[in-house]
Amino acid sequence: MPKARIAVIRGDGIGPEVIEAAENVLSTLDPTLSFVHFEAGYRHMKKTGFQIEDDTIEAIRELDACLKGPTQTAFGTKTQKGVAPTIREKLDLYSNLRPIRARPGVKCLFPQTNLLIVRENTEDLYKGLEYRSGESSFGIRVITRLGSERIARFAFNLAVREGRKKVTAVHKANVLKETCGLFLETCRRVAADFPEIEFEDALVDATAMRLVTKPEDFDIILTTNIFGDILSDEAAGLIGGLGMAPSANIGDENALFEPIHGSAPDIAGKGLANPSATILSSALMLRHLGRATQADRVENALNEVLAEGKVVTPDIGGKAKTSEMAQAIIEKLQLQ
Ligand code: NAD
Repeated sequence: MPKARIAVIRGDGIGPEVIEAAENVLSTLDPTLSFVHFEAGYRHMKKTGFQIEDDTIEAIRELDACLKGPTQTAFGTKTQKGVAPTIREKLDLYSNLRPIRARPGVKCLFPQTNLLIVRENTEDLYKGLEYRSGESSFGIRVITRLGSERIARFAFNLAVREGRKKVTAVHKANVLKETCGLFLETCRRVAADFPEIEFEDALVDATAMRLVTKPEDFDIILTTNIFGDILSDEAAGLIGGLGMAPSANIGDENALFEPIHGSAPDIAGKGLANPSATILSSALMLRHLGRATQADRVENALNEVLAEGKVVTPDIGGKAKTSEMAQAIIEKLQLQ
């Protein structure tokens, strides 16, 4: 198997704890994986004045993939753009895939939940085009035909590859007639190229309700940047919380993998962070690198630990520390 060189950003808050857990799992799985560490985030900015330097992004571009811990972003108009949106924009990682899957042993409302959220990752209000004029503030929402077309194609191609049956385009075109109108029009046009995949569209507010009452209605949710961000945190609540939800940020040339959760300053440094989301993100990374068997091994080891429920973190009903849960997963890997 060709060697893989992984860029690693530990990040802020619980980032270093969950990244260490994932790195230990990956090193046990395959000692030939090599890791190149970069500093970025809020702590880094305090030292250097930059959330992330251009040189770091260029170095990540040359490596095979990037595994990132959450980074903290300060509020306020004078602050810099966060690390994740900066990398997504500069490396054109336009697809954000967020699998929402219930796992055995993890208490949740709907144990059958297994859906994929596909979020456009570079446009929308995240462009940061905001300004103040007098007593009013303005934000410009950018939705392009190209951006909508490539994320829609990503979702439908994913449906074909993964044997999924339905794509639901989520929007608010009844109010946001131009921006969501263009997104919906483009999704409909792309859907026509995939007659074997069922297509429907739904308003974002109704979707928010259906997600917590009938999540089985959804297979792939295809949506714009800000709606995808909000719906995926809501959907994580269906499967045991933010500690359980991984993500992949994928472009044509590069890819970055990170948990969907933030830096969780309320529990940082206490060993309370659930490492599952980051370990599942590293499994997505292995799959992206063509290492499906290794990805399955990581997921199986994690599933066994979750199903037993003995060495899991407090957010999912256990008493274990982050490092103890990671060690339990490593032991399962060694027994395979
Ligand atoms: P958060 O996701 O950090 O935390 C929300 C809640 O979920 C907290 O109670 C936290 O303790 C809990 N939680 C999160 N991850 C957990 C885990 N792995 N195990 C157990 N519990 C977990 O959201 P927030 O507090 O709103 O944001 C904190 C910071 O993170 C902000 O600065 C925000 O900008 C940043 N953020 C970064 C990213 C990223 O780097 N991609 C994503 C989201 C938020």
